[in-house]
Amino acid sequence: MNANEMLLLKLGEVVLKGLNRRSFEDRLMSNVRRRLKNCGSFQVYVRQSTIYVEPATDSCDMDAAYAAAQQVFGIVSVARAVPCEKTVDAIVETAKRYLAPAFAGAKSFKVESKRADKAYPMNSIQVSQAVGGELAEAFPNVTVDVHNPDLTVYVEIREKHAYVHAPAVPGAGGLPVGTGGHAISLLSGGLDSPVSSWMMARRGVELEMVHFVSPPYTSQQAQDKVLDLARLLTAYCGRLRVHIVPFTEIQEQIRRNCPEEYFTLIMRRFMMRLSEAIARRAGAKALITGESLGQVASQTMMALGVTEDVTTLPVLRPLIGMDKVEIIHTAQRIGTYDTSILPYEDCCTVFTPRHPATRPSIEDVRKAEAALDVDALVARSLEGEEWIWVKP
Ligand code: ATP
Ligand code: MG
Repeated sequence: MNANEMLLLKLGEVVLKGLNRRSFEDRLMSNVRRRLKNCGSFQVYVRQSTIYVEPATDSCDMDAAYAAAQQVFGIVSVARAVPCEKTVDAIVETAKRYLAPAFAGAKSFKVESKRADKAYPMNSIQVSQAVGGELAEAFPNVTVDVHNPDLTVYVEIREKHAYVHAPAVPGAGGLPVGTGGHAISLLSGGLDSPVSSWMMARRGVELEMVHFVSPPYTSQQAQDKVLDLARLLTAYCGRLRVHIVPFTEIQEQIRRNCPEEYFTLIMRRFMMRLSEAIARRAGAKALITGESLGQVASQTMMALGVTEDVTTLPVLRPLIGMDKVEIIHTAQRIGTYDTSILPYEDCCTVFTPRHPATRPSIEDVRKAEAALDVDALVARSLEGEEWIWVKP
């Protein structure tokens, strides 16, 4: 580890305006602190739209902290940096030492300076010129190229110190988890719902997961796979509560008493009712699903209308307008793809109708469902509900 190396995390700009700036920053800092806990002991504070992360001991794992910081929502870029005194000499010495490997691999460079400390006696162009001139002398094999350099050396003159770093990498973007409300996400073992969960978490939503199981039709492995998916999401969301809700009796009753073409739709209506009940208990204000318009018979516009007929909570469907290819790319990028494609059954795939209704009317489905004692089935399922905390 480089002595003194630390991280500079840049905050998203837009949301920083206005009254909620303070609570936004406080939430973001507490999220950062919590997520870096496993990487060592750090000092975390905010100044001028930047969160400073300084290792408090030598034993901090900076590589792990660098990776973890890139998964915290609300941060637009992450840089490893070294602080030094606010003099040209100190900045040059620091850059020579800290960026020697980067200079060894570059043919050209430039210096880009920023001056947050407006009282500093040199302006940013003067700093860049002075530092650039000395670095050009120190690394004679590397030429200055202000248009297309291989390496950009960043110098930031801030309150107490100057900071030297190579280019930042993109952060996870979005808003800090916890600033966008609290919702229940319906998590299956498929490709879609981990992505829809991730997308809403990125908008600042604090998630709680619900997963429906139908033993013996669905296996313990299928449930473990869902817990694994939730665990992968904790890298972004922090710890997650996963409600495991028994669904066997409901599915068997539907199969026994309802027309086959409505099996999936009625089943999905029960999922909504159960999720809403769990949301009300948890104080959550919306449901999230991985539905995407037209993807399967139960995701036509009319089918979606039938599904959400039974809940008054908003049903958020962030994938609604996405193509499967885009969803797959996102799953790969966020790291859930390999787990999602493991071949375990889901309760949605048992008892699937041969000819599902794609243009169902709400009245017809309500009538078909009247053969069931809906309230009793919901109540019994909720009695069997359990939950598991999944930790990073
Ligand atoms: P996914 O890839 O998320 O499984 P899908 O394209 O397979 O979605 P469906 O199986 O019809 O579509 O499910 C639609 C949505 O319903 C899922 O995205 C998920 O939000 C929810 N869902 C389906 N099965 C379950 C389950 N067993 N537990 C919790 N939610 C589920
Ligand atoms: Mg599925």
